[in-house]
Amino acid sequence: MNDLKTGELHSDVAVVGAGPAGIAAALALAHVGAKVALVGPAPVKFEGARPETRTAALLTSSVDFLKRLEVWDALIPHAAPLKVIRIVDASRSLLRSPDITFRASELGLEAFGYNVANTVLVDRLYARARAVLPSVLSTTVKEITLSQREARLELGDDTCLSTQLVAGADGRKSVCRAAAGIEVDTKLYDQGAIATSFRHSLPHDGTSTELHRELGSVTSVPTPDAFTSSLIWVASTTEIEELMASDDSGFAVVLQSRLGDVLGIVSDVGPRAQFPVGGLSAKQLAHNRTALVGEAAHIMPPIGAQGLNLGLRDAAALADCVAGALRRGQDPGSQVVLSSYARARKLDILSRTVGVDLLNRSLLTSLPPIQAARGLVLAGLNALPPLRRMVMRAGLAPPAALPSLMRPMTEAPNLGA
Ligand SMILES: Cc1cc2nc3c(=O)[nH]c(=O)nc-3n(C[C@H](O)[C@H](O)[C@H](O)COP(=O)(O)OP(=O)(O)OC[C@H]3O[C@@H](n4cnc5c(N)ncnc54)[C@H](O)[C@@H]3O)c2cc1C
Repeated sequence: MNDLKTGELHSDVAVVGAGPAGIAAALALAHVGAKVALVGPAPVKFEGARPETRTAALLTSSVDFLKRLEVWDALIPHAAPLKVIRIVDASRSLLRSPDITFRASELGLEAFGYNVANTVLVDRLYARARAVLPSVLSTTVKEITLSQREARLELGDDTCLSTQLVAGADGRKSVCRAAAGIEVDTKLYDQGAIATSFRHSLPHDGTSTELHRELGSVTSVPTPDAFTSSLIWVASTTEIEELMASDDSGFAVVLQSRLGDVLGIVSDVGPRAQFPVGGLSAKQLAHNRTALVGEAAHIMPPIGAQGLNLGLRDAAALADCVAGALRRGQDPGSQVVLSSYARARKLDILSRTVGVDLLNRSLLTSLPPIQAARGLVLAGLNALPPLRRMVMRAGLAPPAALPSLMRPMTEAPNLGA
């Protein structure tokens, strides 16, 4: 990949950002034959201690993607199957909805997906990247100069990299997005989130419970230990500040009172991490030799386990577009390729960001008509198995066809179709 004349690195695609979406994108692009450089600070190493605060519920298509990238086997010991998702209306509304239970077995599946700690996921992805990619540069991108012919990246270690396509997977404050001149729409909610884990006296039996309350939700997600769940608590900013200020035993008491008898007695709350809750949508997904991937393109409240799954679908779809371009002898950073990527991702991104925003807003409102509408939808889902199966399928897969590398391993991938 080294250009002997200038001593400068050159790649087909420079993936910026070694978060989960970026590393997966780099592996997928290399899988389809692109010359890839992955640039970004190395992630924190997983030392095998208690999993850190944030976990990701990976849906089946994401798991199939990780299998194709040959990362899944290293994650199996750390992954807990999500067999049942239960939604409980724990609001004080007079129009409370019925509880609703989604079972993977209703779709003939063993699980909707698997819950994996973020540090483990990123650690295993990065190990694979170091093993198979020709260039893994653990430094930042300082500046990007875009021209008709190529993009030039100035790196934190004072070296340069030239590339045809920049895959901007550098998160919410994306340097790539700014360099390409892509603007964003942002949404502010007066909410925050806490991610942690806790032990409980009853086994979780592969069930994730989502308690919907005024101003947010409390969600337990199973971990590989039958008596430990991860927790995502979304609430008003004030309540989150108070919960962060409480000590572990005080936090456990409040959590216990919220969960009631769902998981028995709560104990051993792990370290808590606080996250802002907001929405961000890039106004263009791809422009000026730059394709955005993951949170550089879209951020949504952590409800319904959509964020990273969407980012992984970006990664797999970009690999499809670049594979097609390489096969046709096209410049992978050309406007034609960028437009095909933006088209391929538009509906999936729009439907997920709007859906999660509506769900979150329905929790934020005290307006009786909206609460009644929510109650009716959930009651319908409860009473009508075909409707419930339709919603479960829609939650698992995008409205359009899955990218090639996400199709089940029994199906041959149709790269760059
Ligand atoms: C509490 C919580 C729970 C969640 N649960 C789920 C879930 O169950 N399922 C799910 O699908 N999603 C979930 N999400 C969303 C998910 O965590 C995110 O979508 C995902 O982590 C984003 O990954 P990313 O790679 O796009 O961005 P990031 O993880 O932010 O990675 C960006 C990377 O870019 C690097 N970077 C930044 N600037 C530069 C630069 N100038 N040069 C080089 N590198 C740079 C950073 O160092 C970082 O490594 C959750 C989110 C939260 C907050």
